[in-house]
Amino acid sequence: MLTIKCSKCKTKLFKYQKIGKGKVLKCHKSRITKMYRLEAGDGLYRCPCGTVIGSEEGSGIKMNEQGFIYTGTKE
Ligand SMILES: [Zn+2]
Repeated sequence: MLTIKCSKCKTKLFKYQKIGKGKVLKCHKSRITKMYRLEAGDGLYRCPCGTVIGSEEGSGIKMNEQGFIYTGTKE
């Protein structure tokens, strides 16, 4: 389980069940297990501080690599 955080202010945004190894490029909404502070609007997802975390892409969120960090294990 990964905890996705804002790269700028380190606010916890959501918990994500990642399947497989590799980079976090896209998050499937069905695998977001807990939502903390992610804000949606205009096709974008932002941290409350304004940092863009990703954009709407079908059933998932296309992640902005500069916008987030994560902690936890990829399993
Ligand atoms: Zn932030």
